[in-house]
Amino acid sequence: MSTHARPKPFLEAEYCKGCLRCIDACPKDCITPGTEINPATGFVAVELNLAACNGCALCMQACPEPFGLRPETERTCATGGFELEDPVAIFGKKEVDTFSEGDRPEELIALPACDPMVLKGTYASAIGALLAGCRHVFGYPITPSTEGGELMAKILPKLGGHFVQAVSETAAVNMMYGAGGAGVPCMTFTSGPGFSLMLEGISYMIGAEVPGVFVNIMRGGPGLGNLGPEQADIKLVCRGLGHGNTHAIVLAPGTPQEMLDLTIEAFDLAFLYRNPVVILGDGFLGQMTGVVNLPTHLLRPGLPAWAVHGDRAHRHNLICSIHLAEADLEAHNRHLNAKYARICAEEQRSESYRCDDADVLVIACNTPARMAQGAVEAARAQGVKAGLFRPLTLWPFPVDALLTLLPNVRQLVIVEGSPGQLEDELRLTLSHAGVTPPPITPVRHYGGVLPAESEILEFILVVQEALS
Ligand code: SF4
Ligand code: SF4
Repeated sequence: MSTHARPKPFLEAEYCKGCLRCIDACPKDCITPGTEINPATGFVAVELNLAACNGCALCMQACPEPFGLRPETERTCATGGFELEDPVAIFGKKEVDTFSEGDRPEELIALPACDPMVLKGTYASAIGALLAGCRHVFGYPITPSTEGGELMAKILPKLGGHFVQAVSETAAVNMMYGAGGAGVPCMTFTSGPGFSLMLEGISYMIGAEVPGVFVNIMRGGPGLGNLGPEQADIKLVCRGLGHGNTHAIVLAPGTPQEMLDLTIEAFDLAFLYRNPVVILGDGFLGQMTGVVNLPTHLLRPGLPAWAVHGDRAHRHNLICSIHLAEADLEAHNRHLNAKYARICAEEQRSESYRCDDADVLVIACNTPARMAQGAVEAARAQGVKAGLFRPLTLWPFPVDALLTLLPNVRQLVIVEGSPGQLEDELRLTLSHAGVTPPPITPVRHYGGVLPAESEILEFILVVQEALS
């Protein structure tokens, strides 16, 4: 028989979260729930009465806190448990915002004149984000979007910002949830498989009404697919943003300039509606270089009154997506639906090219729209009344502008790098509008192959021939 007494537990109340697991674990009923809130932690620590304690250690094994219940042999100071170290001595004085009253207004700061730059799409988006005041970027590298995050990792530390390469996309989106909830502009760069991993977090952000910008540079799918420039995620971003009643504005740039411009706009929209916004580009667009003009101003973002921020005015804010009472959750969904309806009414964007008298209307977005525009030019040179309608928002689909064109249109040609995901969006939107579309001719490629200008022209000429 052992002559050693087994050490009994001791507890420094500051390290107890009051989870009560130790009470269940103790066979001697030595531990009882506490009765007072610890002013240092806000928790109610348990109380120990160790008269019957046999030192079995079951409570210490059950305690999830690293400095919770521990053997008394580990006491290191006379007062009880541990010497509580002074965080100011370790980390220095905590810097806190001087803002203390509700909304901090945003501020526009003039930029010096600057020559046009030649930038690849992902860089243009990163610079747009910086000019929109984004200083918090979280991500996990994935081709063909990696360069955006890479540039941010180099620049942000010099601007007092933060780039965190997370352990996964799941972690990255939850970092965005935290940063967005604190009211600061934040973003990520990703691509199809990474975006799929973020969907749960995006649903949480939408449910909790947290802003954030997601740049998804689409690659070929499904699965790992390849690194080619598909438009494989249109359905996902327009109709499948995680569980529940979810929508986000989806912007579809077609040039590096638009990657910059629409990224700036994305931050504006994300805060206006307190909702994530997706920039949907394709692999070519992420990698291609183009001339980019910078705007005349950059933004110093404000601090919204709803943010959970570490100052007096914001401390009591609460952001979450849980509404346990059914009626509460229904009311929240009605509120979200009203927001979506407002977005649909006010945020449709598109560009029409030579559409006024077009009886063959080509519809395309992202890089395929560049080939489509060339094909429309070539068709016009042959006397064909062709035009290009380019959605800049895929959700909401710009149906109002399209409806003004359709009365003259006798044939639609939909050009895309996917098996009909853009066409599906178009058909669904027209169906909701109660409009039957003209006959549709699809021009589709997959796996990183995009429709060529000559091929699109051929389709335009064939449908024109059938019309005449
Ligand atoms: S050491 Fe064992 S007997 Fe003592 S308080 Fe913990 S669980 Fe109870
Ligand atoms: S298990 Fe640890 S943290 Fe939980 S109540 Fe007991 S001592 Fe506190």
